[in-house]
Amino acid sequence: MNLILIGPPGAGKGTQAKILEEIYGLKQLSTGDMLRAEIADGTDLGKKAKAIMDAGNLVSDDIMVGMIESRIEQADCAKGVIFDGFPRTVEQAKALDTMLGKKGKPVKAVIEFVADEETLVDRLKSRIAQTIAAGQEVRGDDNEETFRKRLGVYRAQTAPILPYYEGTGLLHKVDGMASVEDVSKEIKALLG
Ligand code: AMP
Repeated sequence: MNLILIGPPGAGKGTQAKILEEIYGLKQLSTGDMLRAEIADGTDLGKKAKAIMDAGNLVSDDIMVGMIESRIEQADCAKGVIFDGFPRTVEQAKALDTMLGKKGKPVKAVIEFVADEETLVDRLKSRIAQTIAAGQEVRGDDNEETFRKRLGVYRAQTAPILPYYEGTGLLHKVDGMASVEDVSKEIKALLG
């Protein structure tokens, strides 16, 4: 079973992906985490991606599609994947359809996390404060200015994917402002 989680930054996709991994034995693929691993490893790709990410922009479709295409061939993805942060553009969505279509393993559901932007900004601010209080490093793109930029990029480039999936009948909405437990219940119910 393949699932796609779509929603603005900070809406809880990663948290729910980890819960779904446990319940259904699927593999969470967070393209943001994959890019941060490239940065940590100091690869050429990581160096290129860092500036783009720190500015709150999107890494190119070619790079992202190539990254996912090779990753889903690995053994740990055999039971299915929870796509967290991919696709982020209509172009990526179409490429993913083609990839999964070829494998004969289409998407079972697309879950949209509906969220209020100002609440997300408030949550970001308290997350930053907690991270600093814990003596940990704050992510390069986790500051209010870049976060607002990422919200704008979500609206302009990622939200247009939603009508695309609505047309396929796969799209389900959940309330990203509800508690972790309630969102998780909602998702389990819609997956049946
Ligand atoms: P995330 O952790 O999903 O919020 O991603 C952090 C950053 O990584 C984003 O702001 C983008 O710069 C980049 N990124 C992650 N996934 C993608 C994607 N599918 N397409 C383009 N850029 C991405």
